[in-house]
This record gives sequence, structure tokens and C-alpha cells, in this order.
Amino acid sequence: MGVYTLQETIFRNARRAGLSEIGEVDISVLRHEGWVRKLCEENACRNYSTNWACPPAVGTLEECRERCRSFDHMLLFNKVYTLRDSYDLEGMYDSMRMFRHTVDRFDWFVGSLFSRKLFLANGACGNCPKCAWPDEPCRFPDRLHHSIEGYGFNIMKLAEHAGIEYSHGYKTITLFGALFYCE
Ligand code: SF4
Repeated sequence: MGVYTLQETIFRNARRAGLSEIGEVDISVLRHEGWVRKLCEENACRNYSTNWACPPAVGTLEECRERCRSFDHMLLFNKVYTLRDSYDLEGMYDSMRMFRHTVDRFDWFVGSLFSRKLFLANGACGNCPKCAWPDEPCRFPDRLHHSIEGYGFNIMKLAEHAGIEYSHGYKTITLFGALFYCE
């Protein structure tokens, strides 16, 4: 059996967890864009201020920027799901729920390999029937994955930097997450 580099090990485990694609993004190109955060604040997905994974709980864009910049590496990953058609809302919600489980699995597989890590996933946290936000601390901080959109990332641009596909066409939804880490 060969000896794998850390990145090869991460990529192999991304496939093992069921992710579709993964690629590296240079931390220096990251932009936390106000218009994306504004979509959160306008409650476009109805999760604003409802849980510890979304704004405002994840902090200001400046705090998100500082947090991201404290890591040495960033990997962007995705998973493609099939929908019945473009109006398949149930399929979209199911995909989002399944994606969060896939990110959990990826975290279980590789989380112990790093001195520090931060996983971002798609949208709100759904671990508890009712989130403890804002009255109590998160009940499962080890399983809390902040929303990638909440950090103000333009996912289309990130996908371009990572060399992975943003969209896989009609009757599909492609969901994204990220891993920041220090060795
Ligand atoms: S794990 Fe529970 S308490 Fe923590 S953010 Fe998720 S839903 Fe909220």
C-alpha cells in the first residue's frame, strides 16, 4: 500500500464520504461579499437568526474573514443531487439534509488529522429539532458546521478557483461546503 500525502488522504476520504468533487482554494483569493450576507439579512432562506450556524451567530463578515485567514489551507467540495424537475422543492430540502450528513461523515473521517479545522456546510444547522440559539450555547459544538453562504462567499467564484463545477445542469442541485485547516 502506498504512502499518501495529507491532501491525498483528505481527497480519498472526501470520495469515501460520498462527495462529488473537491479542490484547493488559495486563502489569499477569498472575498467575503456584502451582497451575499445581505441575502441572509433579508432572510432569503428563512434561517437568518434562527440557529448557531447562520448569521448573525457566525459573526460579522470581518470576523468571518479573520477566522478564515487564521488557517493555512482551504478546500472547497461539492455533491450533486438529482431532482425530479426545477420545481422539486422537496427534493431540494432532502438534498440539503443529506448533504449535511455527508459533511458530518467527512468531518468524522478526517477531522482528527488536523491541528485546527473549520468545516462549512450548506445552510442552517439541522442537528436539533429546535436550535438552542440565542438563549443557550450550541448543544453539539463538535457537530456545528457554519453556513458557507453566511460567510459571504460567492460560491460560483470559489468553484472557479477550486477548479470544480458550480452547476451540473437541469434536474440537479449541486451543494457546496468547505474545509479550512492547519496541519
Ligand atoms: S447542534 Fe443544535 S444547538 Fe447547535 S447549532 Fe445545530 S441545531 Fe443549534
